Amino acid sequence: MSWDEDFFTCTICETENIVPASGNKNSPILIIGAYPGKEEISKGRPFVGGTGEIFRIELAKVGIDINSIRLCNLWQHKPWKNQKEEFYFQCLEDGATKAIAEAKGKKAILLVGAATVKYFTEFSVSNVAGLQVKSDYLSAPIIVAMHNPAQVFHSVIGEMRLSIQKFSALIEKDKIL
Ligand SMILES: [Zn+2]
Repeated sequence: MSWDEDFFTCTICETENIVPASGNKNSPILIIGAYPGKEEISKGRPFVGGTGEIFRIELAKVGIDINSIRLCNLWQHKPWKNQKEEFYFQCLEDGATKAIAEAKGKKAILLVGAATVKYFTEFSVSNVAGLQVKSDYLSAPIIVAMHNPAQVFHSVIGEMRLSIQKFSALIEKDKIL
């Protein structure tokens, strides 16, 4: 196995085309999504494609350039429906460990999607979306929870907008950017 193949293949279940963290390592801001979708997998980057585009625009409106911050997912690949249970949790732990490593030293973290919010805070995203939360795993002074951007196709965009505004207001208050 070449270095490249190794890098883009899950070392636990051997799923190919995983999506590792990307973006600016030195940014004080990290966004953690749930798992990569079809377009993210084909491009090898988190938060691209249709819903990613809406997300980008909403972040840009509050002065956060998605290209200048750090991005990762809780899962590096889509959790399989028929995956063996041991792999399911091992792959989750592997992705989470990498996300926690990415979070080290970050000042502001946006937790995106139900699985991500649940994993890091033990809260249901419906109860804490748009709010500042605490996590036993993450030490950033600012952590905000948000619904998955795909939700905007099912409900209203306002939910995401409020979460992003809250996130940016806290970042401004602490003069992080
Ligand atoms: Zn895996």
